[in-house]
Amino acid sequence: MSLQVAVIGGGIGGLSAGLAMSKAGCDVHVYEQAAKFGEIGAGIQISPNASRLLYRLGLKDAMDAWGVRPAGVHQRRWDDGRTLQRAPLGPAVEAAFGAPYYHFHRGDLAALLAAALPGERAHCRHRLVGIEEKGARVIARFENGASAEADVLVGADGIHSRVRDLSFGPEKPRFTGCVAWRGLVPAERIAHLDIEVVSHLWMGPGGHCVHYWVSAKRLMNVVCIVERGTWTGESWTDKGRVADVLARYEGWHPIVRGLIGAFPETFIWALHDRAPLPNWTKGRVTLLGDACHPMLPMAAQGAAQAIEDGAALASLLEAMPDDVSGALARYETVRKPRATRLQQVSAVNRTRFHLPDGPEQQKRDELMVTSGDRTFAALNWLYEHDAATAI
Ligand SMILES: Cc1cc2nc3c(=O)[nH]c(=O)nc-3n(C[C@H](O)[C@H](O)[C@H](O)COP(=O)(O)OP(=O)(O)OC[C@H]3O[C@@H](n4cnc5c(N)ncnc54)[C@H](O)[C@@H]3O)c2cc1C
Repeated sequence: MSLQVAVIGGGIGGLSAGLAMSKAGCDVHVYEQAAKFGEIGAGIQISPNASRLLYRLGLKDAMDAWGVRPAGVHQRRWDDGRTLQRAPLGPAVEAAFGAPYYHFHRGDLAALLAAALPGERAHCRHRLVGIEEKGARVIARFENGASAEADVLVGADGIHSRVRDLSFGPEKPRFTGCVAWRGLVPAERIAHLDIEVVSHLWMGPGGHCVHYWVSAKRLMNVVCIVERGTWTGESWTDKGRVADVLARYEGWHPIVRGLIGAFPETFIWALHDRAPLPNWTKGRVTLLGDACHPMLPMAAQGAAQAIEDGAALASLLEAMPDDVSGALARYETVRKPRATRLQQVSAVNRTRFHLPDGPEQQKRDELMVTSGDRTFAALNWLYEHDAATAI
């Protein structure tokens, strides 16, 4: 009989894990609290270490239909726009790592993942409120009164994870001191800026700006991240004011200001993280993605790592169907060091990207020109990794 798995959370991590485990022969159901599978309106970069895993789930055509393949990366100074680093992506990254680099609108990526999951296995309006372990079985209880029984329960329910709270005890995520304004700009509003199809990153004192095309180049996704001492808002995300973003980016390059000025609307996000968890697994319950290793977005790897987690878990459950505890222990052993490393890389990038102009910034800029961190040699450890086989 197939191993029964209940995945809690239908974000990018939960949906891709559900697909990977179905492909590995598990009897999987995904439970999402929201009324439909979808993601907030913003962009997401999917690097080859993740796209190769999604390709194996049969998603290449859908990814090509919705995704944009950037030709490269362009990193620049905040004020004069001087190039700090330019590196190829496009066909070169695919030739080097066997899978492409994509930019997606999150809604498009979530929709194509959800569409690949048979309807009877995808359950919206199911907010998990309780977990009970009975011998080798786990029972999930939902707010709507429904319950589900499985051999394994996977918490893919994001940084606020209820599964984590229920299994490991409540612990509040910490404010990192960074906030992000996000905006999606229709192409026709910024045609005059003539922006290349690459991943753009502008670094400046106390903040940076990332932007790239999504939704078949109909929209430009723009993320402006700045240092800010405190966050007192009740909510983690709020509608923001375009005038506030423009004021914070006073003196920045006209392209950056032109993009911000073209925002139809903006939302502000308080970026949170958590101290690394000593364990991801308790009994038959395990975690993946932001539920166990939330990270700052400065390495663009949070979702990629969630996708890797699901692929590794699927391979291990397939390889060790009669030893679920062993498979879950191995899952944590193989995944934790890599996810932890990326949490650290993201934190280091935050400091690097936000250096005030001065000696340290000059040293950073010099290093980027002489030995950039975007060369394929520097990225090999990250992009060539195959999480489904590295178990
Ligand atoms: C500004 C910014 C830019 C980023 N850019 C990138 C990038 O370019 N590339 C990249 O790889 N990563 C990026 N990330 C990180 C990425 O967004 C996250 O790491 C990723 O979305 C985590 O996916 P997840 O499935 O683990 O969690 P989530 O996306 O948070 O999904 C969790 C799901 O669980 C559901 N849920 C929660 N509680 C319950 C419950 N009790 N019952 C049922 N369902 C529940 C939620 O509704 C949600 O659908 C970025 C993050 C930010 C903030």
